[in-house]
Amino acid sequence: MQYDVIVIGSGPGGYVAAIRCAQLGLKTAIVEKYNTLGGTCLNVGCIPSKALLDSSEHYHNAAHAFKTHGINLDNLGIDFGQMIKRKQQVVDANTSGISYLMKKNKIDTHFGVGSFKDKNTIIVKKSDGTVTEITSKNVIIATGSKPSALPFLPIDKKRIITSTEALSLSEVPKHLVLIGGGVIGLELGSVYARLGAKVSVIEYMDSIIPTMDKSLGRELQKVLTKLGMEFYLGHKVTGAVVNGDEVTVSCDTPKGEKLELKGDYCLVAVGRIAYTDGLGLENIGITVEERGRKITVNDHLETSVKGVYAIGDVIKGAMLAHKAEDEGTLVAEIIAGQKPHIDYNLIPGVVYTWPEVAAVGQTEEQLKAAGVKYKTGSFPFKASGRARASGDLDGFVKVLADAATDEILGVHMIGPRAADMIAEAVVAMEYRASAEDISRMSHAHPTYTEAMREACLAATENRAIHI
Ligand SMILES: Cc1cc2nc3c(=O)[nH]c(=O)nc-3n(C[C@H](O)[C@H](O)[C@H](O)COP(=O)(O)OP(=O)(O)OC[C@H]3O[C@@H](n4cnc5c(N)ncnc54)[C@H](O)[C@@H]3O)c2cc1C
Repeated sequence: MQYDVIVIGSGPGGYVAAIRCAQLGLKTAIVEKYNTLGGTCLNVGCIPSKALLDSSEHYHNAAHAFKTHGINLDNLGIDFGQMIKRKQQVVDANTSGISYLMKKNKIDTHFGVGSFKDKNTIIVKKSDGTVTEITSKNVIIATGSKPSALPFLPIDKKRIITSTEALSLSEVPKHLVLIGGGVIGLELGSVYARLGAKVSVIEYMDSIIPTMDKSLGRELQKVLTKLGMEFYLGHKVTGAVVNGDEVTVSCDTPKGEKLELKGDYCLVAVGRIAYTDGLGLENIGITVEERGRKITVNDHLETSVKGVYAIGDVIKGAMLAHKAEDEGTLVAEIIAGQKPHIDYNLIPGVVYTWPEVAAVGQTEEQLKAAGVKYKTGSFPFKASGRARASGDLDGFVKVLADAATDEILGVHMIGPRAADMIAEAVVAMEYRASAEDISRMSHAHPTYTEAMREACLAATENRAIHI
């Protein structure tokens, strides 16, 4: 079988690349080692985590917020088995949607582990041991990532678990000890905190979501503390021991003292590492970086071997589904002879806690470090009529704009539906809008998006109306 493009890996990078290639008239195949398409994102990442976040948020609201709305519920309970079953139904609907899209776009799907025989030949080894060879002018590596582990802390997948197991537990933990205060850990931690688990977060850095604007981490910690989560910042985990149903996690406190936390589950969420096992990269002379195991690519996302590209989590940059998708589109268009471009500064980052956290562009810390003169406009949700109506008063929108030109340089928000609201900031920044531009545009009332306009007004000569 001879193709124009073979894509290895069917996550958001791979399947989007395949569809865009097919749209551009290229004969395309996709190779996936698991039985379902969609990769980490659809099977054990974005989609199942959001399904559980939504279910647990409904329960939490029913238990804590409904009363204030005048809704009384008797005998409220959790059917955790049903919650996990629904999550799986959501996953199944999404992954079969990708199979449909492959057929619709006439993309051949080959299930099995793909590996390079040479730069144009991919060997596909199926789970029953049978082997096929397919050839192509171009190959796109989209093999993604897997959870990182700590070398001294073996994951048994029963009591010491990764995000994958945390999405399919058979019970709500009593005490979840969470190692890592990043996005994935906090999302899953908040799922279980809402369902009644005690959740203790151990983070090595001195703030949670440490790569985002510091103001977001501070506010998020406040709201998650209200939810009952405990934080051990600046603590260094040194080991974990399982004894029956109990796991004891030991760490060093910032003062150098020893601390032990005992729980029934320990979730290790310390990041992800690029996945290239079994790809046979050595057969075509591609090496991976020692740290992070990432494949090096040029500006066209081409590896050191001509005609072999790599996208998504397996290369440098944010490990995000939409970044992988954008790169999939970019490589397809490059192969088809077009001249696409990605502005990596404008890839938004989101944390789907409640309230949600979302950001795009430069943080205050980055602007300070670069010596850029900027002004700040901030608007708290407690001053928003829409947020008061829904009872979502935590958080704010912060806009950073160039002190001289007023161009928006960064937008950082924590609040209701921030994940959706950040799109306005991305569009504004893509078109190089000034804070005044946004503040002069009509925003429907009452909506959460008015907070974006008010923050822009605040950045424009301190003209916010409602504070
Ligand atoms: C719990 C969790 C929640 C997340 N939530 C979000 C979120 O809300 N938003 C967001 O943007 N990102 C989120 N992410 C990150 C997101 O899932 C990844 O950034 C995204 O899936 C990367 O896409 P990818 O296409 O590069 O790789 P992947 O999605 O990892 O897909 C790679 C695919 O390649 C296959 N593969 C690997 N090697 C081979 C081989 N040799 N042959 C054949 N197939 C192979 C794998 O089986 C896999 O299906 C989350 C991740 C996790 C773990």
